[in-house]
This record gives sequence, structure tokens and C-alpha cells, in this order.
Amino acid sequence: MYEVTEICKNGEPLPLETEGHLRVVFLGTGSAFAKKHRQSNILVIQGDHHVLVDCGTQGPQALEDVGLNVACVKCYLPTHSHADHIGGLEEVGLTHRYFYKNSKPEMIVLSDYGKELWTKSLAGGMEYCESKQGRPLELADFFNLRRPSPVETGCGRVWNYQQGPIEISIMRTRHFPDTAVSIEESQWCSGVFINQRVWISGDTMFDENYPIEYAKVAELMFHDCQLFQGGVHASYNELMSLPESVRAKMLLYHYGDNWDQPESWAKDTDGFTGDPVEDGFLGWTKQQIAYDFF
Ligand SMILES: [Zn+2]
Repeated sequence: MYEVTEICKNGEPLPLETEGHLRVVFLGTGSAFAKKHRQSNILVIQGDHHVLVDCGTQGPQALEDVGLNVACVKCYLPTHSHADHIGGLEEVGLTHRYFYKNSKPEMIVLSDYGKELWTKSLAGGMEYCESKQGRPLELADFFNLRRPSPVETGCGRVWNYQQGPIEISIMRTRHFPDTAVSIEESQWCSGVFINQRVWISGDTMFDENYPIEYAKVAELMFHDCQLFQGGVHASYNELMSLPESVRAKMLLYHYGDNWDQPESWAKDTDGFTGDPVEDGFLGWTKQQIAYDFF
């Protein structure tokens, strides 16, 4: 059972703890280029543990929106290297190392992807920071690296990590380049399944097997959604092809700023209205509210 709860009433900061239940908060729900709803970065909180799934270029500001900052957040899980998902990690690392000494945050990351994240994205701004550092700095100088373990599953490549009571399954997704026809041809990208209850697709092209399989156990599902066809995300049009029972437990996120103007993106279709509730989904994912699971 889940409830939707208002947060930050009267400007109060979002607590990074709960009374024991699982809480999921989308700090943003927008696409990479969205300006209205930040980017799709997600706080998962249970008891006194938390994980921030992705911290994009707007991530530090999105934390400020709910009364937090990068120093408060102690555990990060980057799903892939697009800037709307990892563009805030330089600020996270530098802030912790130089403003809050001895407060190195955790990062949940596979070894191979961690190397790629560092060498191709983060090292440029973080590798040389100190006159007497002696050697180039590394990802492990900024983050305590936590390694998920591979698990056998009938649903693709999956790794598990336990953060206190939060069980995180990480599954590979097929996101980019747009020509990738298999996960093996795709750059590293992942979605997450939390406590066997909440499935979040991560950035992905449309692979119907994932939502159909996870719908058998998930209570609530969040799927990224692009308002046009082609490109590197599942489109609204493609998601409409999912069985009604799957759409009925699915909220859509990672949407463009014109999400509420279906006349601009759904006008030539006769298969859907552009209003996700009318089209059989649960609706658009809402920014800065809590999905609480009891
Ligand atoms: Zn992406």
C-alpha cells in the first residue's frame, strides 16, 4: 500500500529519515533539457538511511528546493553518464572534500562503470585540485565506493545492494546510442527496483519485457517517457502498447516541458489523448511530493 504525501509544508526541509517506511521523492521529473521540473533525480529514504539516485546538473539546486544540500546527502547512485544524471557529482565531491572534511559520501557503483564515470566525465574537473597531492586524485578519494553484487535472474543483468533496510536491485537498460539493438551494444545505463516494491525504469529505450516482468511484483512503477518518437527514450506512443494491467500501475517521468500541451505532441494520433490517466496510466509523476510505502 502506498500514499502520496505533501512534503516541505510551510518551507520545512525534507527530513532524510522516516519512521521506518520506504519513501520515494522525485526531486525533479523533467527530461535532460527540461527547465520547469528540474531533472529526474530521485531520493529514496527509509528509516535513517537514504540514497540519491542520480544527481544531474540541476541536482544540487533541486536539493536546495526541498531544504537540503549536497552535504546532507550521504549516498549517491549514478545510473549513467548523461549530464542530467551525473552533472552535479563534481559539486558533491568537491564540497565534501574541501568544505566538509572527513564527510566523504558513499557512491554505489560497479567497478567498471566507476572507472568510466571517472575517466570520461568527472576526472577533468576533479583529478588535479591540490598543489601537494602527489598523484592524480581518483573517484575513491571523493567517495567511499560501495559495490553491488551480481545476482542470477530471469530478467536481464541485475546487481543487488543493501543500504540499511533499502534493498536496491540495479538492472541494465538499453539507452544509448539510439542504434543499440541490445544491452551489450548500449553504453552503461541502469534502472532500479527498490525493496521488490517500486520499479524505476531509469533512462531506457522501449523494452517491453522489463515493465511486463516487473509489473508482476511491483506495487508502483515509474517509467521514463519521451513525448516524441525515436531518440533514446521510451516514447508515450510505445508505452501505450503495454498491457492495460501494466499501464495501470505506472507513472510517467522524465518528460519535456510541453507535457501539459498534448496538442503539441499528441495531435496526429488516434490511439491516445495525451492525458495519461485517460490513456490508462496512473498519471504523470509529481515533483516534490513523497510516495510513501507502508
Ligand atoms: Zn540519459
